[in-house]
Amino acid sequence: MVDNKKCFVCGSNASVQLVMDPVKYFYDCPVCGRYEYYVMFAELTEFNLNHLGAYLAYNGFKHNFNEYRYFTTMSKEQCDEYKKEFKNGNISHGHPVRLENENVENWYPKSFAEKVDYILLYLNSKNPYWGESIILEKEEMISCLFVDRYELKNGKWERRADEALLNQAYYMLRCLAEQKFIELPGTWNGSEYNRPIILTPTGYARIDMLQKNSSNGKNVLVAMKFGEDTKILREAIRQGIHEAGYIAILIDEVEHNDFITPELLKYIRDSKFVVVDLSHQNNGAYFEEGYAMGLGKPVIQLCKKDVRLHFDIAQKNTIIWETEEEIPERLKNRIKATID
Ligand SMILES: [Zn+2]
Repeated sequence: MVDNKKCFVCGSNASVQLVMDPVKYFYDCPVCGRYEYYVMFAELTEFNLNHLGAYLAYNGFKHNFNEYRYFTTMSKEQCDEYKKEFKNGNISHGHPVRLENENVENWYPKSFAEKVDYILLYLNSKNPYWGESIILEKEEMISCLFVDRYELKNGKWERRADEALLNQAYYMLRCLAEQKFIELPGTWNGSEYNRPIILTPTGYARIDMLQKNSSNGKNVLVAMKFGEDTKILREAIRQGIHEAGYIAILIDEVEHNDFITPELLKYIRDSKFVVVDLSHQNNGAYFEEGYAMGLGKPVIQLCKKDVRLHFDIAQKNTIIWETEEEIPERLKNRIKATID
C-alpha cells in the first residue's frame, strides 16, 4: 500500500526511505515536508488525512540543508531521547517533533472565512515580490486551498476523482477572486492546476491586517524553564491549553537555542495570549512576559505555591498551584474566563 515514490499524505513525488526496526518510511515531500510513517502502527491513517494534508502544507518542515526536524508519531519518551541526543551533537536521529491528531485538529480552520485568511497568508509567503504571479503545483494547491483530497469509505481513506478536486480548488480561487483578494489573469476553463495567481491591493490589505493582528490565531506561547525537571509541568500546561482549544507553542520544540531569538519574539507577537510559569524564577520567562505585556497581549501567570515572585508582577492575578495535576483544569478554566 505504500508507494515508494509518492508521499503517503498528498501523493506528490517525494523521496521515500525505508527504515527497519521498527519498520517505517521516512518521507521528504515538497508539499508536506519531512515526516515519518510507522507501517506497523499505521497512526497516520487515524488522522483525518484531508486535515493532515493541509496541516503539513502549512506547518511541515520543508527540506533544506540545515533542517533536522521532522514530524513523527513515535512515543513522547522516544522523541525526548532523540532530541537529547541531537542537542548533544548526535544527529543520526535528527530532531523529531511529535505530531498528534489533537495538534492538527486544533489548528485546522473551523470556518470558511478562516480558511480564506490562511490561504492569503500562504500565498503571501510564497511570493517575496508583490505584483508577481504565484504558481502552485497540483498537490500543493489542493493542500493549501483546503480541498478534500480523500473521502472516508468503509473506514478507509480513498482519493477522490481528480475532477472533483479541481472543482473544489477552482471554487476556492473564484471565491478569493470575487472578494477581490486575488486576480486570476487570463481565462481559466478549470482543466488545469498551475494557473498564475496574483495578490491584489485588497488582498495585501487583508494580509497586513492579519499579520498585525494575529489575535484570532490559536497559538499560545508558553514561557517557562525547560528541562528534565519541568517535564511534568510542561505537559500539564500543554494539556490545559489544548483543552481550552488552543495550541501550546513550547519553544524548545520549535527552536533548540537557549537564548532569546527573533523567532521567539515572533512567536510571542503571533500568540493570542501568553502563559508564563514563574516557579523557577527563570529570567527568560520574565523577559518573555514583559515583552508580551508591552505588546498588550493578555498574560496568564502560574506559580508554584511558596515561591516568592518578583515584586513587579506579584500583584498580578496568578494561578498558584501545589501539584501539577491541578494545572490542566485550572488553566483551562482561566483561559475560558479571561480570553474567550
Ligand atoms: Zn506530501
